Amino acid sequence: MRFRWLWFLPMAVAAGCATFAPLDQTQAITQSQKGNSKSKEKIVKSEQEWRQVLTPEQYHILREKGTEMAFTGQYWKYKEDGAYVCVGCGQELFNSKTKFDSGTGWPSFWDAVDKSKVELKDDFSYGMHRIEAVCSRCGGHLGHVFPDGPRPTGLRYCINSASLDFKKAESKHK
Ligand SMILES: [Zn+2]
Repeated sequence: MRFRWLWFLPMAVAAGCATFAPLDQTQAITQSQKGNSKSKEKIVKSEQEWRQVLTPEQYHILREKGTEMAFTGQYWKYKEDGAYVCVGCGQELFNSKTKFDSGTGWPSFWDAVDKSKVELKDDFSYGMHRIEAVCSRCGGHLGHVFPDGPRPTGLRYCINSASLDFKKAESKHK
């Protein structure tokens, strides 16, 4: 029952994570990634199996393309050094070196750890054209990518905390 109210959240917050980028710019993002999505091992589970391994919130975001409410997730202001991995399959997706404070209330990165690990797809939901970011290994929804990020890429990967798990970097001073 606790999560019943989450159903209408995407409607309320989708615009929050969105900027209305010109169509040619968003197309350029998907174009630049073509040819990079070499498929290695894929994780395929039934929806029932996903429900067993994910919390209801993780399931809603990863499998039903949900969006967590801004400023509520675990990692939007997290500043530890380390790797952000997919909570669904453990694939490394982002590194703290490319994380920046976007002020949006969602963890934001200007690049993925490897272009082959975060697939970009066109998303025309809610009457707008956005670029969806998806884990290439398990197909889990991560968030969206916008062309208003900082240098050097100019991209902003706007990612749900609930899609991520964090692996702290080992100390460099041994
Ligand atoms: Zn995954």
